[in-house]
Amino acid sequence: MKDVIYVIGHRNPDTDSICSAISLAHLKNKESENETYIPARTGEINSETEFVLNYFNLDKPKLMTNGKNKKIVMVDHNEFSQSIDDIENAEIIEVIDHHKINFNFSSPITFHTEPVGCTATMIAERYLSKRMIDKKIAGILLAAILSDTVVFKSPTTTERDKKMAKKLAQIADINNLEAFGMEIKKAKASLKNMAIPQIINMDFKEYDFCNNKVGVSQVEVVDFSEVDKLRNDLLSEMRKMKKEGNYDLIIVMLTNIIKECSELLVIGDTKKVETAFNKKVENNSIFLEGVVSRKKQIIPQIEKAYDGA
Ligand code: MG
Ligand code: MG
Ligand code: MG
Repeated sequence: MKDVIYVIGHRNPDTDSICSAISLAHLKNKESENETYIPARTGEINSETEFVLNYFNLDKPKLMTNGKNKKIVMVDHNEFSQSIDDIENAEIIEVIDHHKINFNFSSPITFHTEPVGCTATMIAERYLSKRMIDKKIAGILLAAILSDTVVFKSPTTTERDKKMAKKLAQIADINNLEAFGMEIKKAKASLKNMAIPQIINMDFKEYDFCNNKVGVSQVEVVDFSEVDKLRNDLLSEMRKMKKEGNYDLIIVMLTNIIKECSELLVIGDTKKVETAFNKKVENNSIFLEGVVSRKKQIIPQIEKAYDGA
């Protein structure tokens, strides 16, 4: 019997987590004789990812909710607080990611992180170096790059992401990259029919900063009017989450991807947020011009504010 290895992305999966898991499993299965790689999702996919998988006619990966005693490859994350339940009791085989490193494991493993805009860029590079890519895989890797880089507008975008996206678009027969990217972004459900907890949890990540529990959600909008009537409800849900989950700080980042700016709703350690951005938080809110990336423009600043305490 072949060994089974699961390839999983982070909790509250995004397009990169899902498409990188599918693609990496596919590549590894072509290369290996003794193992079977199975992509899995650690939660429900969002409507952007659903659009992408439908577009390229691929099924969503099977759901997996516990990592205990399983062999696992982690993609698009490396922090246990963002991974599947019981990841502490899994056998981690490999990590491939593009986030800051907060990882500790008892055995030597393959650990590959690079400061690029998307995990899919790294996986695409592996494929293309072996000339093994097919059209559907090229399509979902492209979609992941466009999603994670906010169609190249995020400051996390590198030349490698752009170069890979162009190559993948040719293979996937996508003529207008930008137009396809906006189509993907707009496929994210209009917030109108979503419950408040669902909006917050769609892209919620948890961090440990010097033993402080911090949660940061990112909600992308194309117009702030979409969230105008939701602020108070978002704040009361955040207060509830803080209490029930024992958080020190909860932030909901409302990011306008057209105007390239963010409003942060803040509950908890307001002072840390003020230190991080050198600006007053008023009515639980702070506005940041030019900010679209949680990974590059929010998390390092907040972490530094906790470090300095
Ligand atoms: Mg991700
Ligand atoms: Mg990613
Ligand atoms: Mg993301």
